[in-house]
Amino acid sequence: MTTHEPHLLPGAPGAPGAPDVEPDAPPERVGFFTDTSVCIGCKACEVACKEWNAVPEDGLDLTGMSYDNTGALGASSWRHVAFIEQDKPLGGQQTQPELRWLMASDVCKHCTHAACLDVCPTGSLFRTEFGTVVVQEDICNGCGYCVPACPYGVIEQREGDGRAWKCTLCYDRLGAGQEPACAKACPTESIQFGPLDELREKAAARVEQLHATGVPDARLYGEDPADGVGGAGALFLLLDEPEVYGLPPDPVVTTRDLPAMWRHAGVAAAALLTGLATVFAGGRR
Ligand code: SF4
Ligand code: SF4
Ligand code: SF4
Repeated sequence: MTTHEPHLLPGAPGAPGAPDVEPDAPPERVGFFTDTSVCIGCKACEVACKEWNAVPEDGLDLTGMSYDNTGALGASSWRHVAFIEQDKPLGGQQTQPELRWLMASDVCKHCTHAACLDVCPTGSLFRTEFGTVVVQEDICNGCGYCVPACPYGVIEQREGDGRAWKCTLCYDRLGAGQEPACAKACPTESIQFGPLDELREKAAARVEQLHATGVPDARLYGEDPADGVGGAGALFLLLDEPEVYGLPPDPVVTTRDLPAMWRHAGVAAAALLTGLATVFAGGRR
């Protein structure tokens, strides 16, 4: 009889060749590098995500935007494969007619500074030991504060349910030493999963390679820890401006100014109380 061995990530505890680590040492921060230059638009990632996470169907009709049928990330689309048709040749190719398809699988960015998590009043959204951002459906009260807080428009309340849903970066699979379902299903390795530091190195090397082979427009998105969200946990290699893919060019954590706002509100409240106390004291004389 054969026993079914789970597919363990290289380096995961218990995997062959795993380094000896302190039992209590926190795991490395992990994430995604999505290299859109090798995406073929098969949507295996979307399907695998739905199947593993039991995410309901969210529209089988084509949107009119090429082969896109889901349109955007949302409560029931935790991966979204965008199709963009352009009157441009593929990098390095001298083809006629000049036409190219950009395909890109988008996902929650698992931000370093995650506004969704900052504003959640119930603790439903939390940072995991892997550095990812997860929403717990049994704690979410459906207040919806996280929805406008996300600078990418990722998290959404589900109609008829009211609770907020998004990619969990397959928290259950990571806990079992397995890679996320979407990365495992991707046939071209457009979606790569692993320790974030390694992914940043891979992404930088891939951009250099594309530049050297005649694709000067290749660029990274979300890789800079100095950007407005402190760097994303999901990096992308794009072949055009972020806006072309529906991504904000300069995302900023929407709760960035909250501490200063609270300080100003505190000063204003103190001034108001002082004024009232003065009036009250004057009235008693
Ligand atoms: S992309 Fe949006 S939903 Fe995802 S972690 Fe960042 S703020 Fe939260
Ligand atoms: S990591 Fe898991 S939950 Fe997130 S998009 Fe991929 S399959 Fe879906
Ligand atoms: S599975 Fe991979 S190749 Fe297929 S659409 Fe998703 S990212 Fe692209």
